[in-house]
Amino acid sequence: MLPVIALVGRPNVGKSTLFNRLTRTRDALVADFPGLTRDRKYGQAKYDEYEFIVVDTGGIDGSEEGIETEMADQSLLAIEEADVVLFLVDARAGMTVADQAIANHLRKQEKSIFLVANKIDGLDADSSCAEFYQLALGEVHQIAASHGRGVTQLLETALQPVIEEFVRIHGVEEEDPELEHFDEFYEEGQEPDIHHEFADKPIKLAIIGRPNVGKSTLTNRILGEERVIVYDMPGTTRDSIYIPMTRNEREYVLIDTAGVRKRKKVSDVVEKFSVIKTLKAIEDANVVLIVVDARDGISDQDLSLLGFALNAGRSIVLAVNKWDGLDEYVKTRIKTELDRRLGFIDFARIHFISALHGTGVGHLFDSVNEAYESATKRISTAMLRRIMDMAQADHQPPLVRGRRVKLKYAHAGGYNPPIIVIHGNQVHDLPDSYKRYLMNYYRKALKIMGTPIKIEFREGD
Ligand code: GDP
Ligand code: GDP
Repeated sequence: MLPVIALVGRPNVGKSTLFNRLTRTRDALVADFPGLTRDRKYGQAKYDEYEFIVVDTGGIDGSEEGIETEMADQSLLAIEEADVVLFLVDARAGMTVADQAIANHLRKQEKSIFLVANKIDGLDADSSCAEFYQLALGEVHQIAASHGRGVTQLLETALQPVIEEFVRIHGVEEEDPELEHFDEFYEEGQEPDIHHEFADKPIKLAIIGRPNVGKSTLTNRILGEERVIVYDMPGTTRDSIYIPMTRNEREYVLIDTAGVRKRKKVSDVVEKFSVIKTLKAIEDANVVLIVVDARDGISDQDLSLLGFALNAGRSIVLAVNKWDGLDEYVKTRIKTELDRRLGFIDFARIHFISALHGTGVGHLFDSVNEAYESATKRISTAMLRRIMDMAQADHQPPLVRGRRVKLKYAHAGGYNPPIIVIHGNQVHDLPDSYKRYLMNYYRKALKIMGTPIKIEFREGD
């Protein structure tokens, strides 16, 4: 499970700057859910081998009436959901009343809190930071977010407990021994004869989407109302509920982000929507079923969630819900819009459903199964090479600086999502258009749907 680091502090202390620095290697996910959170940003970041989620909570301005209320509304949920809180103060501005109010709140939390004095560039850091010890949050970590100074050390300290916990649970390295074994076969040019290990495991299916799109209705529909057992499970707002189920003799675990089992009826108080819960569900799933509301079309938030699922390499199935009672004109318009906005996940199957009436719900599972099988499929080296040769013969790679790029060898680099490794000359200079061509070629040839395919290029043989 991904650790979550929340950035907290009053406006202008440098939270966004730090956020951008931490997430710079990946696309930041700006999930602005109006009415739920104020401009909170979520990003995926990496320190060493460890991936984590960073949340920029937006500013807490000490001037509002009652800091507690303000924090409750804006940042409390983020703090509650976080494993680690970085509380930023401004070394240039010095300590303020708002800093003290935030510190008072944070001291009551049972969380790892790190006090971070930012903007130490050009200052006598030790003396400027001394006063922050009054906040009684322990060591003052000195950084300059805009220059990157002190950031690595900070992460190292802040993530230490999380890393220890991770190692305790998972053991030291998470190498896939079977894959290494696989590589030996490939090097010898033999076909690996390993059965489809995933066939015995349940498919973890996360049902995600914005509030009110119909996730609970769909979950209930899938489970069949009478089979929903209502009981309380311990957990925080960030925990999804895992529901095992069987369908056509195949086992699944629904990862229910809407909290259906906690509610007696769908109409009962709606579970507090948590972006982090959704992100974690995506991370933990094999297949992500993203539900959108036909009447709202595809919103930016939907795109953000899709982007996250894509970054995480998850298989995706899209359900356009509330397809009942729409007239033909509206349906056509929605489909056109989907085509336009969803080009970047053209591998995902789209279903038009009505969770309320049950229309189309059964067919979702055809795509879920297909996506899962595509993602975990074993593909032989011989096959990958043959397809590479065919693609190259149909449409040769371009010249780069007067020399033609040449693809020489291909083999599998992993699965879930499928990774294809291609060796050749000047492959790093291949234009994106040709990479896309190759990807589509492989997709068609291998009949892979529902999952992204990653192609890695290596220079040489
Ligand atoms: P936020 O409101 O907490 O998200 O703060 P921002 O990240 O927007 O930063 C507020 C201002 O402080 C911006 O003008 C930044 O360029 C500046 N700033 C951020 N980090 C540093 C730093 O390490 N040193 C200096 N000198 N300025 C910084
Ligand atoms: P969630 O917040 O995503 O779990 O959404 P809910 O399942 O609670 O549904 C939100 C609202 O949309 C409820 O009033 C549902 O009755 C309604 N709804 C859900 N699915 C459909 C559907 O297929 N058609 C129509 N017309 N309404 C639906």
